[in-house]
Amino acid sequence: MFYAIDELGNKVLPKPNIKATCPCCNGKVIAKCGKIKVHHWSHKSLIECDQWYEMTAWHLEWQSLFPLEFREVVLQKDGIKHRADIKINNLIVEFQHSNLSVEEIKQREVFYTSNNSKLIWVVNASNNCVHSGWENQLREQDEQPIYVVDMDSNIYFELVGYSQISVIRKTLSLPISIVVNPDVPVFIDLGEYVACPVEKGYYDIERTSYNDFWGRKRNSDKPYYDESLILVRKKDFVELLPKLPTNLDTFNSLKFCDKYTFSKREEHLKKQQMYNQSNNKPISKDEKIKTQAFFDLLSGKITPLNY
Ligand SMILES: [Zn+2]
Repeated sequence: MFYAIDELGNKVLPKPNIKATCPCCNGKVIAKCGKIKVHHWSHKSLIECDQWYEMTAWHLEWQSLFPLEFREVVLQKDGIKHRADIKINNLIVEFQHSNLSVEEIKQREVFYTSNNSKLIWVVNASNNCVHSGWENQLREQDEQPIYVVDMDSNIYFELVGYSQISVIRKTLSLPISIVVNPDVPVFIDLGEYVACPVEKGYYDIERTSYNDFWGRKRNSDKPYYDESLILVRKKDFVELLPKLPTNLDTFNSLKFCDKYTFSKREEHLKKQQMYNQSNNKPISKDEKIKTQAFFDLLSGKITPLNY
């Protein structure tokens, strides 16, 4: 592990000759500060208490982008403890470098989404061995507004990125590639950029909800990643996460869409309003607030977050 608890109760990175314990099992740990492996704490008993724990330099790099209190947070359910890579409010981010079986993915998603938490995966393709073909498509003039959408709470943020970027998988192996839970989106670390699952469907009047594919195809065991994705800068992605209203009951999950999808939603809401008015249909208070929030955003009354 990268963080242990010292005698004063502080969360500390490995340093030689410091007495510290594991935050998960309270067992004694020893700092390993050699020249080959990334510096870490090791259980004195030599038994890693968290079998899910994965420790790579890539993990440490990601964790270091967030404040200390968000890193390696111990969670407990039914007496079982695991360390979440990052926990910010109710959002848990799991960084995954090695392959996981469907069963393992499922177990982790069940564990981490208990207690009303939302989970997202970030998988490692930063060495570019898994994905290719996207770098040539980035032209500065094609950068456009990207919207962070939550369909239930109707909360939006705006940042800048690339949409319709086609990312081709080079090999069949991705750490997470199979449908388990479509509510847990998978993001791909491409180095400077993070590929975000795109909201493919748009709101049309016949449908009652988004026809959404969040980075995973629902009824197939094939991954969806060779479809177009939205790319945002890793820096923007990292800044966004602590700002998400993950403590709200209405916060569903982290979703991204481009301008086109966003405008489709605008169309839908206008049609819905007109339909309700012409049919004298009573509108629920919730619906009114949501719709108003959306139009306030469009008219500039609400300022979306820009970086
Ligand atoms: Zn332990």
